[in-house]
Amino acid sequence: MNRRHFLKLITAIALYSPFVRSSNKNLKIVVIGAGIIGTFISYELSKYGIDVTLIDKNKPGSGTSGSSFNWVNATYPKKPYSYNYFAQLGINSYKNLLKEIDISIEWNGSLEWFNLRQDQLDLLSEISQLMNYPTHTKHEIINSEQANILEPSINFNNNKNIVYSKDDGTINTRELINLLIKSIKINGGKVITECEYKKLNFQKTNISSVSTSLGNIDANKVVFACGIDTNSLLSKNYLIKPTPGVIIKSKPYKKIINKIIVGPGIHFYQQSNGQIIIGEQGIISITDAKSLKNRLERFSSRSIEMNYLNKIRSMGGEFFEDIFDLEIDEVSIGWRPIPIDGKPIIGRLDHNPNIYLATMHSGISLGPLVGSLVARELVQDIEIPVLENFRPSRFD
Ligand SMILES: Cc1cc2nc3c(=O)[nH]c(=O)nc-3n(C[C@H](O)[C@H](O)[C@H](O)COP(=O)(O)OP(=O)(O)OC[C@H]3O[C@@H](n4cnc5c(N)ncnc54)[C@H](O)[C@@H]3O)c2cc1C
Repeated sequence: MNRRHFLKLITAIALYSPFVRSSNKNLKIVVIGAGIIGTFISYELSKYGIDVTLIDKNKPGSGTSGSSFNWVNATYPKKPYSYNYFAQLGINSYKNLLKEIDISIEWNGSLEWFNLRQDQLDLLSEISQLMNYPTHTKHEIINSEQANILEPSINFNNNKNIVYSKDDGTINTRELINLLIKSIKINGGKVITECEYKKLNFQKTNISSVSTSLGNIDANKVVFACGIDTNSLLSKNYLIKPTPGVIIKSKPYKKIINKIIVGPGIHFYQQSNGQIIIGEQGIISITDAKSLKNRLERFSSRSIEMNYLNKIRSMGGEFFEDIFDLEIDEVSIGWRPIPIDGKPIIGRLDHNPNIYLATMHSGISLGPLVGSLVARELVQDIEIPVLENFRPSRFD
């Protein structure tokens, strides 16, 4: 057995041989937040037949998850290895999910490159670090001729070192959340929308209920999966100030893009319904004081939005001419929940083990994995070793 296989085996044993405390099925669990994370946790809990109630102050998917780029990956920014490995498991979890939920995931892979020499050198150095991990997703360095066979409409500018990450996929998160919610209800769980969490109520030291804008809900465990609202709801600084990211959706366009294109400044892919989804790498700053101040999910005026779109077009037009022909369907601003050290925060809070927290960036990539691990921890009252690096206690 080589080192790679040995490490895989050890990690699998660690993952699937949790330290068992006791089993508890008399649970009433309230999950706060119907984004991808809270919805997956509730879905997995409902599969166990647990009395679970998922609440959201707005509609399911109306937070960050509804304004995401929706790229499922375990690429180089996810480091160190423990985090990258976790994301690799995330990809596997999506493959398992396809056996249960009728959703299509486009496993087309991504192509990434930079124009500036230093950026390109940094990219290659990151990829060589990634390739040295005991396990990693499939990557290959290809030249522009090879890339053009995969993606004829893109001008790769004679780049000799384009990173082809073969295992990456994309998903329609809004559709996925809706399907999961249907399943939660079929499994006997409750989903209450426009229901805002207010506070926890206790009998002695035990949680007895959750106060919400619609009244009290009985509970003996509570999961906070409330994204960018984590700091305010838990009165602690787990996350940095949320950063904005703009997502642009075109109207359906002729089939032209096969992969996730991560070019200089912007990234995009084409959904099976023809829509092209565009994100930006923070290069074009959002100069919309009103949107920034009030954390709006749209630009505050049409002219600011047009100005922004023109910048995106001129940047993307350098390597994708068709961008000028795209009609725009939707422009949204998403707000990223980013933990202070960049890694997911998943686990019980030390001061009360019946309060559980799950928040992270890359929640789309990790959703099904986090959902199944968190549900197991809650239902079986165990601690799963693969989550050890991500516990909230590291901020105490
Ligand atoms: C522009 C952009 C692009 C991104 N691209 C990717 C990507 O390609 N791949 C990837 O993996 N990740 C990506 N991310 C990150 C990813 O979208 C997030 O990590 C993920 O959506 C977080 O999900 P969540 O369920 O934790 O939070 P959310 O989706 O924000 O859900 C939290 C929910 O909690 C609810 N809530 C808050 N407070 C209360 C309360 N008091 N009472 C009741 N409900 C409450 C909110 O209404 C919200 O619906 C991107 C993010 C952005 C902004």
